[in-house]
Amino acid sequence: MREERSEIISRYFIAKYPFTVEAQAWLRERKIDLDFLVKEMPAVLVRARDRVIKALEEGVAPSILDDPEAEFLSFPIARMIVEIVGDPFLRHRFAVAEAKRAQGFFKEEDVETLTVIATRTFGIDCQPVKKDISGRVYSFKIHFADYLRYASGFHDPYWKLVNRVLSKGYVFLAKDDFTRILAGAVEKRLLEPREPPLKVPSEIKQIVDEVVSKVMARRERYVLEEVEGGEVVEEAFPPCISALILALRKNQPLPHSARFTLTSFLLSVGYSVDRIISLFSEIPDFKEEITRYQVEHIAGIRSGTRYTPPKCETMKTYGLCLFHEKCRNIRHPLEYYRKYKRHRSKEAVKLDSGGQAGEERNIPQGSL
Ligand code: SF4
Repeated sequence: MREERSEIISRYFIAKYPFTVEAQAWLRERKIDLDFLVKEMPAVLVRARDRVIKALEEGVAPSILDDPEAEFLSFPIARMIVEIVGDPFLRHRFAVAEAKRAQGFFKEEDVETLTVIATRTFGIDCQPVKKDISGRVYSFKIHFADYLRYASGFHDPYWKLVNRVLSKGYVFLAKDDFTRILAGAVEKRLLEPREPPLKVPSEIKQIVDEVVSKVMARRERYVLEEVEGGEVVEEAFPPCISALILALRKNQPLPHSARFTLTSFLLSVGYSVDRIISLFSEIPDFKEEITRYQVEHIAGIRSGTRYTPPKCETMKTYGLCLFHEKCRNIRHPLEYYRKYKRHRSKEAVKLDSGGQAGEERNIPQGSL
């Protein structure tokens, strides 16, 4: 009975965390033949295809645990498909989607399980702790070198070491932050290219062909959205916008006016719809379908009208202005952005403050 229970726990564990050393050991022990798997376990192939296509198109990886074995086996097949396609854009989408999927599960785990995953699979030097500092509960401490290995990839001041509780070489983290670090480790691991097999069954080849054509279509769209407005320089974002991004990353609820401002600003400077959706995916009540509809509406894809962010005067009435010395003579957040973007690229351009910023349009009803 006890063995049966441990087997059930183990099957669910590897289904949830197929990237772990435990899951890989399980796979090695079973010595599953690829041809057998394709012929005898078609559900695995269906799930693997879904895993790749959903990551590419929606930025999410499905988490269906009704058949843990098929769920688990779909991961190495999906990863194989990604490697055969060999496209960095797809690999990135896949890594991010799988990391998000894992983080969803991490949030439900106890500290011991998370510690085991962190230490055994990623070699992270960490330990569970129970510490309450100024009302904040810290459940982990992690060596600063490991912290930096993953947190340095997060472009938010929130993750900077100077903003952390550090003691004797260890950074103290609340559980939510630790799961984010762990998700970062998953993403980093999946971004490492692997040698694809030279020969695969025709059923897998078919999926590869389908994914290749979808990747090409998707990339074209993505690149078009990305290049509009040139390179995005986040260091040139005005204080009001940086504060909204920080609030979002800290899972703080944003009022409608703030979400509209942030979305219309990011679209104006060249963020793609997908990138904005990915940013909003950090909030607890995130619903991709609704968010996509709203972002596309503001982008003008659905409405035909592309909205621009409010001017500084309106931002003040919303309570969203965080005036800074650098905002002197600035009348629009986009004007600020253009000015400091130019400064950053060392172009001696005098800011033309008249009529440069986008015209203001009312916030569309029901958006974000
Ligand atoms: S002055 Fe304008 S750009 Fe500066 S923080 Fe306020 S709203 Fe943003």
